[in-house]
Amino acid sequence: MKSWINLHPLLIKALSPAKGLVLFAVLLGGILTYPGWALAADEVRHTLSYPENRQQHILVRSEFPVSAGVTELIMPDWTPGSYLIRDFAVNVNSLTVALSDGKSLPVKKISKDRWTVNTVQAGTLVANYEVFTPGLNVSSSWVSDSFSLINGASVFLYTQNSRHLPQKLSVEADSNRGRVHTAMPLSAGNKEFLAADYDELVDSPVVVAEAPSYSFVHEGQDYALLNVGENEFWDGQKAARDVEKVVVETQSFWRTNPLTKPYWFLNFAVEGKGGLEHDHSTVIMTGRRQMGDRDSYIQWLGVVAHEFFHVWNVRRMRPQEFASYDYQTEQYTDQLWLAEGLTSYYDNLLLSRAGLITPKEYMELLANDIYRLETKPGRLLRPVTEASVDAWIRHYQPKANSVNNTISYYTKGAVISFVLDAYLRKNSRGRHDLDEVMRKMYSLYSDKPYSSDAFENVLIDVGGAGAGKLLQSLIDTTDDPGVDVALDWYGLELIRGPLTENGEAVESGFGVIWDEGKQGMVIKTVLAGSSGAIAGLMSGDEILAIGGERLKKNTLAKLMKIYNPGDNSTLLLSRRGKIETLDITMEAAIPDRFDIVLRSGFGKRHINRLQSLLGQKLRGRP
Ligand SMILES: [Zn+2]
Repeated sequence: MKSWINLHPLLIKALSPAKGLVLFAVLLGGILTYPGWALAADEVRHTLSYPENRQQHILVRSEFPVSAGVTELIMPDWTPGSYLIRDFAVNVNSLTVALSDGKSLPVKKISKDRWTVNTVQAGTLVANYEVFTPGLNVSSSWVSDSFSLINGASVFLYTQNSRHLPQKLSVEADSNRGRVHTAMPLSAGNKEFLAADYDELVDSPVVVAEAPSYSFVHEGQDYALLNVGENEFWDGQKAARDVEKVVVETQSFWRTNPLTKPYWFLNFAVEGKGGLEHDHSTVIMTGRRQMGDRDSYIQWLGVVAHEFFHVWNVRRMRPQEFASYDYQTEQYTDQLWLAEGLTSYYDNLLLSRAGLITPKEYMELLANDIYRLETKPGRLLRPVTEASVDAWIRHYQPKANSVNNTISYYTKGAVISFVLDAYLRKNSRGRHDLDEVMRKMYSLYSDKPYSSDAFENVLIDVGGAGAGKLLQSLIDTTDDPGVDVALDWYGLELIRGPLTENGEAVESGFGVIWDEGKQGMVIKTVLAGSSGAIAGLMSGDEILAIGGERLKKNTLAKLMKIYNPGDNSTLLLSRRGKIETLDITMEAAIPDRFDIVLRSGFGKRHINRLQSLLGQKLRGRP
């Protein structure tokens, strides 16, 4: 519970003379009402508290200065960095509104995300509401008795007239819920967190948890890693040491530190995966045992590097469409290949340069990106700029058929960045590279948004007209990006399968993705252009037999080895309960992975090029 005595100096400071008299009178009368009566006209105050005997809910009290007339209270529909309309208002329960003297006012819902209140004169509007927190993820909020994560856009109402005003946040929580962690600074009395405006409030996730935090300083800049859910499978000290290496490498990459206060890695070793970037913090989700497995731990480090790279690329240097956020509607940009894809290229690369992964591990990650690009028929349908615009309807809402109709701007963005970087290095005999382009972009656009041709202009400046032409082909067309040429320059070669066993048998297939969640052999997706598509297979078909042989999960691999690509056979299937037969021609199975290997003629010059890219010495043949 907040003490008014502690708040007193702050309130007096914030009060206008007229209101000061009212405060004095109220105190003399011995009546203590809500702090709202003392709200200065130039700030918004929010208070979070926990309802009793009610999990997964948080109570919010927001105090807005309003003028006479109609005020709209608005709940955001999405949160920056995660491009999906989430309609956060769906979780708002029991909104009541009163004046600062406690007199309640009628409130009317007028659209999915807005309420109106009519006030006779200017004053302070106090909104009390309860918010349900549906699930733990980086984009919304989660409240439980063991820990809470509050992402502001999913919890705090705003008004258009007050969103530019300073916002203050108090959290009323029993000590057994743990401490409050957020990148927002505390007020002088340590009672409230301060944000310059609503944008900063929603850009500053709040964690309430009893959790270990590990702090370190690099070149005078403070950092902290908070490990919510740290357990016997999660070594917090080691994680902090590795995060520090990522920080050192990334700061050295950009050569300029835009941070103005301590930066927080808010890590939840609880469940899930992913991260979301903010100006002075990031929220990261990971599994409880993710550190126990090397590949999974590298994945976590990759998320750390990715989110921290965003401090520069997307938080400060951002597309013009994100110059200011409109929380109520989609903000379309065709630049997510640059904001996200290029960040995905550098996350793995910076892990290598920080010495956290080996050159071999880096090549496995790169081969996996190329694999995920080339095995998606959707790459032939949609350029990466269009996939970026479609983020709102495709990327965050994957469907069974997504592999056929779109491509991830993360994956393709990472692959085309590798191709671009190799081009720049090759054509300048190692004098220019993508690092230089990014730093130049940052020097031009760290304090003003960039237009959609900005990157191309900087690229041409560094790498010449040819680089610009290559970029257009990479981002505006579905043409083959040419990874083989890029790999060749490093003395490397991509092995795309086909699958072999003991170097002999070639597996066949007919281009379907099985629905692992279903009993029996049910097709989830028929890949566009595959022999299965030509034969007329559909998603939902249950394949009962191939060539008269009963098909089960444990007989699939054996059966497919009987056939060579080009062989004809028949499929017995059940389609919505009706038994049918289809003729099928086998084709080469999609390999389960690609590998990058040294090509013939690999030599010293290739080692030099790889060392320059990977930032570490290659010992012997990598
Ligand atoms: Zn990202």
